[in-house]
Amino acid sequence: MKRVLVTGGAGFIGSHLCERLLNEGNDVICLDNYFTGAKTNIAHLLDNPYFELVRHDVTAPYFAEVDEIYNMACPASPVHYQYNPIKTIKTSVMGAINMLGLAKRVKARILQASTSEVYGDPEIHPQTEDYWGNVNPIGIRSCYDEGKRCAETLFMDYHNQNNVDIKIIRIFNTYGPNMNPDDGRVVSNFIVQALQNEDITIFGDGSQTRSFQYVDDLIEGISRMMKTQHGFTGPVNIGNPNEFTILELAQNVIELTNSKSKIINLPLPQDDPTQRQPNISLAKKELNNWEPKVQLQEGLLKTISYFDTLLKNQK
Ligand code: NAD
Ligand code: UDP
Repeated sequence: MKRVLVTGGAGFIGSHLCERLLNEGNDVICLDNYFTGAKTNIAHLLDNPYFELVRHDVTAPYFAEVDEIYNMACPASPVHYQYNPIKTIKTSVMGAINMLGLAKRVKARILQASTSEVYGDPEIHPQTEDYWGNVNPIGIRSCYDEGKRCAETLFMDYHNQNNVDIKIIRIFNTYGPNMNPDDGRVVSNFIVQALQNEDITIFGDGSQTRSFQYVDDLIEGISRMMKTQHGFTGPVNIGNPNEFTILELAQNVIELTNSKSKIINLPLPQDDPTQRQPNISLAKKELNNWEPKVQLQEGLLKTISYFDTLLKNQK
């Protein structure tokens, strides 16, 4: 049995990961400061004797004897990461230093949840891992983008200088159950708005694109990446290459929820990337033919059902 640390384990992705790791017979420590995560996401795991929940902030060192670390802690929604930008960059940079220091001391394998945001507003399309990106270092998204870029640098330097066993994945827009209804990201916003017959808020004209990945496909990719045995460090893109405009997403959500919602257009935030699509050739090659299995409508239906139950229980 491995002892595994998941930082940000009470968040959207972290909670699915904790569940998967427990199901695979691991002893899991879930560490979170509950900034955007919630105990309700992992409440069903609390009875499991191999699950341990720790309130801790990754900007402070943490000591435990572990075999593997998944470093997921960081707010991911622009609304939340821009709320306190200094804290966001500290979480990425100091969090990486603290977790890499721990990995070095206990000789644990460590995986970093990096992001497609390292490509910024990309000039090449689809994005391959060898593209260096087009990131504004002083804009409203920089605390997140540059924090994650610096974390990648730290991971590579700890690997090269101290031989730390690292894995870096670049996650593209992911959605699914356990997203916070107030998360502020596009899929949760549109579904919550549609279920309540409220206006669907498209920022800009809705022609910007994203490629949406259902959370189960990401968890499978993360699991395969952590198990790679041939010294493969990444970074590797983990995302669904099917690309949609934000307008198409809104139309899909309205149709699948039978909603009476109207679409309204609000100003496009500064530095909002115009397009994003992962090239997943490297993931297919290195992760045993991994590719996403859940396409948009199927994933949206599962997520709609989750939010529908959540909103009914809140009434
Ligand atoms: P989330 O906001 O639901 O989860 C983040 C978790 O980290 C929350 O539980 C939060 O409370 C915790 N956290 C934040 N700051 C912390 C701190 N200083 N100390 C301890 N815990 C802290 O977001 P998510 O979508 O689950 O994202 C998880 C990870 O995946 C993040 O690192 C994010 O950058 C990365 N990622 C996510 C996506 C996506 O589309 N969901 C895309 C790219 C990368
Ligand atoms: N977006 C939108 N309406 C919303 C929330 C987001 O039109 O209510 C847009 C946003 O401007 C961006 C896209 O949807 O172009 C994805 O936004 P999200 O915050 O989910 O993720 P990111 O921009 O980090 O990819």
